Amino acid sequence: MKRVRLIIFNAALGPLDYSVPDDMAVEYGSVVVAPLGPRQIIGIVWEEDRLPGESVAASKLRPIFELLPIPPLRAELRRLIEWTADYYCAPLAAVARMVLSSGGAMRGPTTMTEYRLSGSEPERMTPQRAVAMDALQGEQATIRELTELASVSDGVLRGLVNQGVLEPVEVNIDRPYPQAQADYDEPQLSGDQNTVASRIVAVLEAREFVPFLLDGVTGSGKTETYFEPVAAALRGNRQVLVLLPEIALTEAFLKRFESRFGAAPIVWHSSLKSTERRRAWRAIASGEAQVVVGARSALFLPYASLGLIIVDEAHEISFKQDEGVRYNARDVAVMRARFEKIPVVLASATPALESLQMAESGVYERLELPSRFGGATLPAITTLNLTENPPERGRWLAPELVEALQDRLTKNEQSLLFLNRRGYAPLTLCRHCGHRFQCPNCTAWLVEHRFTSRLACHHCGYDAVLPDACPDCGEADSLVACGPGVERIADEVKEILPEARIAVATSDTLNTPEKAAEFVAQAEGKAIDVIVGTQLVTKGFHFPDLTLVGVVDADLGLEGGDLRAAERTYQQIAQVAGRAGRGSKPGEVLIQTRHPKAPVIAALEAGDRDAFYAAETEARRSAGAPPFGRWAAIIVSSEDENEAKEAARAIGGTRPNIRDVMILGPAPAPMALLRGRYRYRLLINARRSAQVQDIIRKWLDTLDFPRGVRVSVDIDPYSF
Ligand code: ADP
Ligand code: ZN
Repeated sequence: MKRVRLIIFNAALGPLDYSVPDDMAVEYGSVVVAPLGPRQIIGIVWEEDRLPGESVAASKLRPIFELLPIPPLRAELRRLIEWTADYYCAPLAAVARMVLSSGGAMRGPTTMTEYRLSGSEPERMTPQRAVAMDALQGEQATIRELTELASVSDGVLRGLVNQGVLEPVEVNIDRPYPQAQADYDEPQLSGDQNTVASRIVAVLEAREFVPFLLDGVTGSGKTETYFEPVAAALRGNRQVLVLLPEIALTEAFLKRFESRFGAAPIVWHSSLKSTERRRAWRAIASGEAQVVVGARSALFLPYASLGLIIVDEAHEISFKQDEGVRYNARDVAVMRARFEKIPVVLASATPALESLQMAESGVYERLELPSRFGGATLPAITTLNLTENPPERGRWLAPELVEALQDRLTKNEQSLLFLNRRGYAPLTLCRHCGHRFQCPNCTAWLVEHRFTSRLACHHCGYDAVLPDACPDCGEADSLVACGPGVERIADEVKEILPEARIAVATSDTLNTPEKAAEFVAQAEGKAIDVIVGTQLVTKGFHFPDLTLVGVVDADLGLEGGDLRAAERTYQQIAQVAGRAGRGSKPGEVLIQTRHPKAPVIAALEAGDRDAFYAAETEARRSAGAPPFGRWAAIIVSSEDENEAKEAARAIGGTRPNIRDVMILGPAPAPMALLRGRYRYRLLINARRSAQVQDIIRKWLDTLDFPRGVRVSVDIDPYSF
């Protein structure tokens, strides 16, 4: 009888051994269903010698129930799972679970519902319905896909479904995706672009692992350039993964992709419906899926023959996952490419210091696009000193910025105001008694959202109606909004430019792909004069008539003791500045600040990226911070404050004493209360070469904690 060792989807249990029925052909990587007590669980057959486990007597082994009809996970992916678990101090099961996307990916219904025109007419014909029905002639697809085809809202189509104008059709979920064509609409690349593209294509064809840093200024055509190796992969029948930092950017990307390759790629993100998810998963595993565009979780999919990975806007912090398995998708992407022996391209106009350092030391190969495509110039950047030239009382926009906005409106050009704060005001307080509205679950103020008349917590999602009177002292009309959020800036613009068409672009207003697509269409069609947005609008968008960018508060990101604050501020402002003057008209950027001499701001104004990176490098070196030293965090949390504190103390009390490894804390974490859990933190700082993971594993292995306590490890944490 054959025995196998399984990784099972239960992080609390290690690998378990089972027997294999004679008629079942399992191999390493096979996904199976096995008994666990009275339950059934999903497991992956793994190499025994790579998984230390207890050997169970043959007579005690229970047989596997079922072999799932999906391709076994390839060795390359199994090694990636092991590496990720090891590097990020996470249970193997937790990483494996990301690959199978909760097991449900393989089981469940095998059909899904699509819709097509039935031939009957709606009771009442509206212009939108007419447009939709016209666009959907001969089409059959999911509502989501039809919404895109018809460029109408999902509500219009639902109305047509209710009236029987669109009829449901059950289809097999494994029906094929439209095929992308390498030569559908090939652009003429510039000399620089061509040099970069050819180099990546050569590596792809040679099937080598090379990590590239594609360092190109905003508007240099990074996307157009990496589309060439994508085309090469398509020609060679190999799959491509493009990681994008934000789902709001996906729509614009999909449109571009489709006009280049004639068909949309497969989109992968956490809010896919389960049938779509299953269909995509299976197409990826079978090799049918050509190009996958996704959020960081797409990195762990079981590609049958991956040929290329692109990480676009690779500096973005949203590639770092901050719960569950705390991994950095940018770094895991490089490891995946290494196991697969393929090129990986990290594209950015403002690379992370770590990535630049890797390029400098020759670990990454640097590819450069130093100028904007088509002769467009980079925008002129000027700082507005708010201390010398403040806005009017109760306003947030300085006179020069107001003037510039007026000027653009007259010229029929577009403007973008950037403020990285959602809502109307970041803090609401009672003028009478000083009461401040705080989230009951988090160490955070509630943020007023005036469009919806609510107070919301941006950390846990708590929200409440904005009251008329102070809940503490009962005084009516005593609540005042402190400081600006994007909604407040939009109000101010409305007062200054009553005739302007204004759009607020944040994760609140562009929270579905449809809304994001509508926003892009309106901005491109020049139905918007002024965009007021958060970091969501700082990247990816290409609006040729946008010629003015105003940064409302450049100092915002520099507050607080975050080690990466300067870098993040630099990146955000350089990126948002990059939205200006991308067409034939030159762009202008006005930065409002109280600290025009701060190194970040001065470097931005001088357009001196090297000066900024040099100063930042020195700051990091002296702080022993990445890329020169390593940091890790141990975060202890519980719903019971005392329990969290005790557990943190217990960890602190058993700290190992190792030369050159500094252990700080425990202390309350920066968000000492988050989503109802009290949090304490220990920080570990060590030299680059220190085996931080081994130290942490050995240390924590000796301890036991009460059930309510969660201890998580964050290797290379983003903010601390
Ligand atoms: P980046 O991502 O570097 O900011 P994009 O890829 O968005 O730059 O390119 C900026 C603009 O220039 C886009 O509208 C793009 O279509 C256009 N563009 C870039 N390269 C080419 C090319 N070779 N041929 C035609 N248009 C190009
Ligand atoms: Zn909260």
